This record gives sequence, structure tokens and C-alpha cells, in this order.
Amino acid sequence: MQGDDEVLCVHGRPSKGAGRSPDDLEAVTRTWTVVAPVATTIGVLEQLADYPLLFPCARWQVTRRMREQRAATTQDLKRNLAAFVDWVNATFHRPGGGPVIPPDPSGRNMHASRFRRTLAYFVVRKPGGLIACGLQYGHVRTRVTAGYAGQAESGWLDDLAVERLEMAIDQIKDDLVALDAGEHVSGPAADEYRRRLARVAPYAGRVVNSVRSVERLLTSADPAIHHSRAMTCVYRAETAVCRRIRLEAGLSADGPDESECRPTCPNLAYTDRDIDALNGRLVRQEAAAADPLVPRPRKERAAAQAARTRGIIDQHQAGRPALGGTASGGI
Ligand code: SF4
Repeated sequence: MQGDDEVLCVHGRPSKGAGRSPDDLEAVTRTWTVVAPVATTIGVLEQLADYPLLFPCARWQVTRRMREQRAATTQDLKRNLAAFVDWVNATFHRPGGGPVIPPDPSGRNMHASRFRRTLAYFVVRKPGGLIACGLQYGHVRTRVTAGYAGQAESGWLDDLAVERLEMAIDQIKDDLVALDAGEHVSGPAADEYRRRLARVAPYAGRVVNSVRSVERLLTSADPAIHHSRAMTCVYRAETAVCRRIRLEAGLSADGPDESECRPTCPNLAYTDRDIDALNGRLVRQEAAAADPLVPRPRKERAAAQAARTRGIIDQHQAGRPALGGTASGGI
């Protein structure tokens, strides 16, 4: 365990890039931090595969690796995916009798490159997703990652735009449902949080048939509310403390930056969901502060963090409206 979340790692040898080959047993190994679905998939693959390589080779390495280690080509992958879909649909059935994996509405065959959308999902929906993706790929800058696969026609930027819109719609729905169910929101940006959700609530879905309409919808429907780890950022550039810090350091700043987040920022809000996460964090901080084996500087730091966390939780609970009352504003 590390920090608030379990850290899942994959150990291997990098194969992408000049002069690298996974066949080189002397090569330095590398560790990648991965999300849970990737770790699960690799675990299953390790049990199923009897090949020395779990993943298909890059196209320019096809000949040697295919010959020596039977790595799958992209065409093999396409065939395997089709066979997998056929097997699932022949083996399992929906209650109504329809196929478990319905035909692709686009009419095209499933292809490995379609999984790029999965990458877009995590880049957009996980805190620091673009940075994490850049680290995974060994990119020098996140700008390289944003332009993944190099050219605009690769469609990667479109994937990101569509995913952003889907996330905004999902998130608006979840936030509105939570507010309707009585979720309490505290923090200096609590009122603005409710105002923005009330503004975008009438959005009932529109026809989206081009990336341009995705971007237009995002501009009008995105409330710029970012749920992160145990806090919610109701982003407003003019008052964003992280933005000011980055600009003062001569860095670009085009959105919330959790790594520079400060408790004094007026854009901060805490939902009940954040408070649940903070309660879990408080337990770990208090345990570290009381642990006789932890060195004194770390104990003092943990104690200070615990005091701050407890303060946020207490203020949140103190501002909770009585049953039947109205929510109060900032803490
Ligand atoms: S400092 Fe934190 S709350 Fe403020 S804008 Fe940045 S990420 Fe959002």
C-alpha cells in the first residue's frame, strides 16, 4: 500500500524506442504503475498464455519476434477479438435472448486500435490522467501525450473530446442525484457548486454527430467541476491558487492542478463523498502519528495533517443543515 490507494505495478522490459528490444535479457527492467483493470487482465493473461511474451509486438519488430516467440500480430489480434465475441455470444445469453455483445453500431470489426478509447477514458477520468499516461509511454511532455500517435487524423484528440463530454454528462447526473438525495456540500465554493449544477441541469442531451458539436456542447454544458481525491475543485481561473503558483513559476496553467492545490483556495468544495474519503485518510494519518516506529519528523507531519483533515470534517458536519432545513454556504 502507498498513499491513499493500493499501487499496482507491472515489471517488464521496455520494447518501444530506438535500440530497445524485449528479447534483450540483459536490458534494464522497468516498472509501470497500472490501474486495476490492467493488473487483472495481465493476471488472467499470465494464467492463459503459454508464450514467453504476453503482448503483441510493434509492427517493425514483427519478423523476428513472430518467428522466435510467436508473438501475435495486429491481424491475429483482430481475429482473436472476433473469435472471442463469437464465443461469448454462443456461450452466454441475455434474458431476452439478444447477444451479450451486440453488433458494433459503426458496422466495423473490432480492432485493437479501438481500445485507444479505453486509454482516453482513464486519461480524462483519473486525477492526473494525462501525466500518468505520459509517464507510462515515457513521453517527455504531456503535449506529446495529448498529440498521441502524432497527427490529428489519428483521432486521439477526438477520442479525448468525446470522453470529456461523456464524463461531464455522467458527472452532472451523479452530482444532481446526490444533491437531490440530500448530499451536503461545504467549503468556500459550495454555493458556486450548487449554482453551476442548477445551471446545467436543464441539459437533456442533444444529437452529437461530429467532434465540433462535442466541443460546442462541452463549452456550454461542462460545469468545470472536478472531483478529485477527497476534494472537489469548482474551477475558476481568476481565483485558482494552483494557477497563480504555476504562472509565477513560469509554467503553463490551463486548468486545476491538484499537485499544487492549496487549502486556502476559494475554489475548494467538499461533498459528503469527499468527506467519506477524508475519514479514511484521517484513520491512516492518526495511525502514523501514533506509531512508535515512525520517525519523529514524519510523526509530527502526520499529526499536523490529521489535525487539518479533522478540521475540514468537523466544519463540514457543523454546516450540515438540520433535517428539512436548507444547505448553508461556505465553511
Ligand atoms: S488550488 Fe485546488 S481548488 Fe484551487 S483551483 Fe487549484 S486544484 Fe482547484
